[in-house]
Amino acid sequence: MDTIQRRQTVAVRVGPVMVGYEYPVAVQSMTNTDTADAAATASQVAALALSGSELVRITVNNDQAARAVPEIASRLRDLGIGVPLIGDFHYNGHLLLSRYPDCARTLAKYRINPGNVGAGRHRDNNFRRMIEVANENAKPVRIGVNWGSLDQALLARLMDENAASSQPKDAAEVTRDAIVRSGLESARLAEEYGMPHDRIILSAKVSGVQDLIHVYRDLAGRCNYPLHLGLTEAGMGAKGIVASAAALAVLLQEGIGDTIRVSLTPAPGGDRTEEVQVCQQILQSMGIRSFLPQVTACPGCGRTTSTFFQEMAEEIQSYLRAQMPIWKDRYEGVEDLKVAVMGCIVNGPGESKHAHIGISLPGTGEDPKAPVFVDGQLKTTLRGAGLVAEFLELIDEYVDSHYSRKDAALPVVQEPGS
Ligand code: SF4
Repeated sequence: MDTIQRRQTVAVRVGPVMVGYEYPVAVQSMTNTDTADAAATASQVAALALSGSELVRITVNNDQAARAVPEIASRLRDLGIGVPLIGDFHYNGHLLLSRYPDCARTLAKYRINPGNVGAGRHRDNNFRRMIEVANENAKPVRIGVNWGSLDQALLARLMDENAASSQPKDAAEVTRDAIVRSGLESARLAEEYGMPHDRIILSAKVSGVQDLIHVYRDLAGRCNYPLHLGLTEAGMGAKGIVASAAALAVLLQEGIGDTIRVSLTPAPGGDRTEEVQVCQQILQSMGIRSFLPQVTACPGCGRTTSTFFQEMAEEIQSYLRAQMPIWKDRYEGVEDLKVAVMGCIVNGPGESKHAHIGISLPGTGEDPKAPVFVDGQLKTTLRGAGLVAEFLELIDEYVDSHYSRKDAALPVVQEPGS
């Protein structure tokens, strides 16, 4: 696989996580609990962090939320979770950060939306106050432009300039320019107010795939701040996942993007950690980072008329996900494991040979036996009702015999008196 050349940026420290081109692209997520409910928010942050989110953003929208931030952090510490908390501020961030110094100290980064920090001269004062608090606490900021809340004064100014130009652009192009300009001008202003260059991350989110690609290419070419990527308001289910993956993949392939988030709308009662899994899957599918052993499974067709094949693929995927928290502490590099589960003889043996371990199930009308391949060689043939359990045992064996144990190099601790 060709190596992707990351765009060179400065490195920004966000709590214990470094963000920038020489560091891995970080996975980010955001809670949807009421931040004022410290127990519920800490519990969701914990779930997001345990599923792999390396930065978690929480909205800080009112006094109660700002007051709850230190308690959320304390509850997370009690759970042994040190994920950096990012405060998402709109409209009143200057007031909340000034009124609640414990909140300001606890958060690892402040997200500032330049489109809603105020209007007229208040805008600059409010923005300046947030930057001052960030500087007092040595915190980085993300200047996060969103086209749903774009600075209307800036947009109107650019529209007027465009109308007076001899070669006017279309309105969409002017809007994209305004998004980029809003981010860059706010960053310049932040630096004017004393924010160090290497404490600024930028984002410029829009909800259309082509617009997002356009805006980020432009932004990437005009600054060396790390960029946080995400398609805003991506939507639900397959639409949200596919649109996010399509947009992020193009940009990541060009080396653009230092943190990512997939903004999925969960189904009622749905699992918020899905957005973390999708981020990880995008990065792993592109060969950028590895998080979880991958299962290659064929889609099935008329040659697999029972549901056994789908059930087996799902069971193996769930098993790998469940084992991963234990394996990743125990085995070096196990997240690169590739497993194949194939439905019949057509592509089954071939694809299984490409995986570290693969099984080729019998299709309809085939001899009821399932050859298992390990590192390209036929290892055994399974049959009968215990086939899935036996294959899982073979995966366990493979992991134990092929990945070095992380504790292997630890010195033996002598018991006192022994
Ligand atoms: S491997 Fe066999 S069962 Fe799977 S899609 Fe191909 S032909 Fe169909």
